[in-house]
This record gives sequence, C-alpha cells and structure tokens, in this order.
Amino acid sequence: MSRNGKSGRSQLLLSPNSILANALLRTIDILRPRVHAARPKRIEFVVGTQINGAPHLGTNLVQTAAFLLAKTARREFSIDTVVRFGALDNAPHDVVLDPETHHAYQQTYFHALGKDRIAELIDSYYVAFFDSLSEATGTAYQIETYTDQQATPGFRAEFLRTLVHLEDIRWWMAPSHGTVHIRIPCPDCGWAEKRADRTKLVRLDEDGATFAAVCLDHGPYETHIDPEDDEPYLDLATLYRNLVKERALGRDTSTLHVMMKGGDWAFGCQLVDGALGALATPAAQMPVRIFTPQVLAPTGAKLSKSLLREQGRGALPDDVEPWMLDTTTWPGDTDNYVDTLVWLVGELLTDPKHFFRSFTVKELGRLMNSRPITLPVRAHEMGIYKRYFDLIATGRKTTEIRVNDSSRKKIKPGSLIRFRCQGDEVLTRVTRVARYTSFEEMFDHEPIASVNPLATREDQLANIRQIYPPEREAIGVVAIGIELVDPPRPT
Ligand SMILES: [Zn+2]
Repeated sequence: MSRNGKSGRSQLLLSPNSILANALLRTIDILRPRVHAARPKRIEFVVGTQINGAPHLGTNLVQTAAFLLAKTARREFSIDTVVRFGALDNAPHDVVLDPETHHAYQQTYFHALGKDRIAELIDSYYVAFFDSLSEATGTAYQIETYTDQQATPGFRAEFLRTLVHLEDIRWWMAPSHGTVHIRIPCPDCGWAEKRADRTKLVRLDEDGATFAAVCLDHGPYETHIDPEDDEPYLDLATLYRNLVKERALGRDTSTLHVMMKGGDWAFGCQLVDGALGALATPAAQMPVRIFTPQVLAPTGAKLSKSLLREQGRGALPDDVEPWMLDTTTWPGDTDNYVDTLVWLVGELLTDPKHFFRSFTVKELGRLMNSRPITLPVRAHEMGIYKRYFDLIATGRKTTEIRVNDSSRKKIKPGSLIRFRCQGDEVLTRVTRVARYTSFEEMFDHEPIASVNPLATREDQLANIRQIYPPEREAIGVVAIGIELVDPPRPT
C-alpha cells in the first residue's frame, strides 16, 4: 500500500520524487483545479502531430496518454471526454534558398501534396491506430488538419486580435530578433518566405489585415486576411500557431481543452505564456496543458528522426529497436501494438512520479519486455457499486443502466464489458442495447427485476437519480443487456 492507501502502482518502475509529483496523489489530479473552477460540460484532449512521415514511439506515447487520460477523466469527473487530433499538415515539405538574396522559401506538406494525399497520409499512419485506441479506451476522437483549422473564422479572428498587440507579443514569439514568422504563401505557387523576412503588415483595420510579401518566382504580392474568408492560407510558426490556437480554444467556456504535449514543450511554453500574459488573457481562459514523458536516446537527447537523418542509423545505440523510430514496423498487428502501448502508458500513469519524467529508449525497451505475456481481453470498462457488482457476478442482474455519453455509443451486441469494483472484476458480454430519453421511459420498457431483483421501481428510480443528476440524464439513457462470459458453476 502506498501513501494514499491505493494499491496498483507499478512494481516495474522506480522513480524519484519531483516537485509536481509530490503535489499530486494521482496523475489525473493535475486537471482538478480547472475542472472545479470551470465546471465544463465536456473535456477535449487536444494532441497535435506533424504529418511528415511514419510516427516514432514518442509521438504514439503522447497520443496513447491522451486517450487514457480521457478515459480516466471521464470516470473521475463524470464529464464526457473526447480526443481531438490535430494533423499538422503545415510542416515544411521543401526549403529552397533564393540564389541572389539568400532568403529561404518553403512549401508546406499541404501545398506540396494537396488535400487528398494528406488525407491518405493521415489514413495510413493514424486512422487504424486511433480506431484501435478509441475502442480500447472507450473514447471517441476527431481529426482536424491545420489547414482546416486556419480556415475557420474563429482562428482568423483570433489571429487578427493578436495583430492589434503585435508590438507586445513579438519579442515573446521571437526573442532573438523580434520578427514573427507569419507566412502567407504566394497565391500563384504556394511557396512562402520561411522567415517572413520581407513579409510586412501594411494595413490593419476592422476589415482585416493586409500583408505584402515577395515570392521567389512571382515577385511582390499583397494578400488580405479577414475572418469571413477562408483564403488566403495562413501559416504561422510553431509558437505563434500555439498562441492563436490556445487563445481561440480558451474562449469556449463550456468545453475544457487540455493540451497534450511532449515534455520538451515545457520549455517552449514559457514563451507562449509570456505572450498570453501580454495579451491580458483572463485566468479562466489560460490553457491547461499536460506534458507527457519524453523518449530519450542514451545521450539524453530527445529521440527524433532528425537525429537519425543527420547522424545515420549507426549513431543510434543497439537499444533502439526499429519499431521505436518507425512504429509501423511493429512485429504484430495494430491491436497488439495498441494493447501493448495502453499497458505501458497505463503503468506510467499509476503514479505521477512515473508519468511526469522522461525515459531512455533502453528503459522503455526493458519495460516493454517485462509486459505480461497475455494482455487482458479488450473490453469496455465500467466501475460499479459493490451491491450491483455482486448481483452481476452472480448472474442476477442482467440489465445495466447508464447515461448515453460518447463512450457508450460504441457498445453493441457482442461487445464485452468488464465491470470493476474495489479490485474485483467480472467480464460480461452484451446481449442487446436499448436507448431511451429518460429513466422513467426506460423502466416502462425494461423488466424491473433484470435491473435489480431486490428493489422496487420507485426505489430504483430514486437510487439511479442519486447517481445521475438531471443534466446527465438529459443526454439520454442506455439499457445494456449483459450475460456472464464465464457463468458461475452451480454449487
Ligand atoms: Zn509564387
């Protein structure tokens, strides 16, 4: 038993205390102050990934953590949660130098490949992985590209608001030279000045912002950004993009957006926070961020494909298995990879000391090799009170009632549900699913004794409404027929 009386902490890991871990009993507690202050209707875990080749382990770790924390937050706070994946298709695809002026020009993946090829890349690297993670964690997800995001009125309006205060934020966004990299690609060819050397804001008024820039091939051009138009393309450098995104998401007070970021972002976010402060961002709209474990090479450098490109495979130690750099080469199917990652990140999440730290590839390899030979059968998971758990485990409760939040939408006949209570668990199979608008309507149709053989309809209704307040009942009710996967032997 550990200090909070909770067992189940990883026995495989040894982690020293840290300032953050010392303040938390459980990893999910990092969200509690904002959940209490904001009382959001929904929590979105936002995770962005550059679409520039096969993912490495670090990328998939952040994504897995987003799905697992969404699952934990849903239970812990009784708030619906979802994962929102941002595919950063504005990553640079090519960079060239103007031979005369030495200005650098780049084109994004979106401009080089086009919408359809980007969709194919997302599909080949992420969709099967996310579908599997979504099923394993009972968490819905949505995908949005940077190209979609920059075209929205909300993003453009937020960008224009920051321009009013450009003098106040430009040194935060670019501390070394004060030149903010706002790239507005040439309307004729899609190339843009990488460092925005000759991109100038020429006019800013209630109609929007007009920029002048110079194309490598087409010479000087002017473009106009206003919130009502999704053209021209607006490509912001990383820090500025995060500033605008976090400001725009912060305005939605009914949804709490949790930014999931690799641990190396902790340093960069100081600058974003400086700019958020300079823009007088209200406390209730400041971003909530969770920094996930970094995956490190033995030197302590972040494991990255650029390291591999620059120094070659030989520079990498034997500890780095091929799938760690290109996870599509995992020696198994997608579900097997996802189940393994869910197990691994689940171990890290058992203690904030294990989660808020970095891991070398060697240590991660050791952990992966220590994983159980058979991982638990995939099932939807539900916590349940002891008295109901006992009724299910003895086969006397054959209908389970829940509200119809996003995690229930995927439950269908044949799905497995694992009920958990105080360290015990029981595996059941779904026999049927029925949806209703209220608990009253549900009890008009479902056999009362199948929900609870020991209580009257009136008592059951009172009990269930103690668990679910009216605003939860309002999202709809689902009645789930269940049978035991391993029925108890007659005694
Ligand atoms: Zn051009």
